[in-house]
Amino acid sequence: MKVFLVSIFCLVASSSSFISISNILKQTTDTKLLFRKPFITGNWKLNPQTKDEAIELATDIASTITPESPEVALFVPFPFIECVQKAVGDKLQVGAETCTPEDGGAFTSGISPAMLASIRVKWALAGHSERRTINKETDEYINSQCVKLLDQGMSVILCIGETLSEFELNLARSICEVQLKKGLAGVSADDMLRVSIAYEPVWAIGTGKVATPEIAQSVHAECRKIIQDMYGEKVAEETRILYGGSVNPELVDGLLAKPDIDGALVGGASLSAAFGRVINFQPLEETTLID
Ligand code: PEP
Repeated sequence: MKVFLVSIFCLVASSSSFISISNILKQTTDTKLLFRKPFITGNWKLNPQTKDEAIELATDIASTITPESPEVALFVPFPFIECVQKAVGDKLQVGAETCTPEDGGAFTSGISPAMLASIRVKWALAGHSERRTINKETDEYINSQCVKLLDQGMSVILCIGETLSEFELNLARSICEVQLKKGLAGVSADDMLRVSIAYEPVWAIGTGKVATPEIAQSVHAECRKIIQDMYGEKVAEETRILYGGSVNPELVDGLLAKPDIDGALVGGASLSAAFGRVINFQPLEETTLID
């Protein structure tokens, strides 16, 4: 098992002998040793255009995954979920890009969490900024998606993030706080085991403008503090916070080196086999992966 160990570089470097995982794990409180397994995820959005292309892309991506790779999930258009599941086997999870938070009835085009669970979908996205903007999904609606998904035993990535004007007004923390508190209303500490957060500054999604690792780290750390205020230290330390916004093979290593960045949600760069380089990121000196 790969364990994501952050900020132990000095500890490892200063040790003259081999440090076993069990020895290191005992040092948790003193060494900021963290147990969050890196999670690399792809969001295909409205791509590709045919089932055959989806199978080919998924097969290419799955072929880059090795036993050393982190946890991986691909969020794909509904019609491709089952064929992609078949193509990738157990190499990665196949998730839904959204869901309808209703149990059934007159909701034309709706896809409920129960329908997803019935085809073995474990993960779904909620609150992606494109859904917030284009589909006018509110925090209340996004909250009901999260609650329904969790009620079905599924897991959810709650996406949050500020617009460019909000970023320029230094409102990133406040926006994330509102979106976290409203999006997670009624979600218990136990259910948080099945929640990951994706911090996706809207100004960095699909724009080629990536937040620097320092900017992303500082917002991630703020988000973790907010989660701590909501659920306590243990949940805050266990919750994975992914970064999303123009992540690509060149930038992933620097981002994932940061102690509070536990993975990535990747749009454009998940549409080719080059996504394999993002999946198999190479941790820089602030982060160490140990078997
Ligand atoms: C996304 O779709 O969530 C995303 C981050 O897209 P991109 O990587 O293309 O910016």
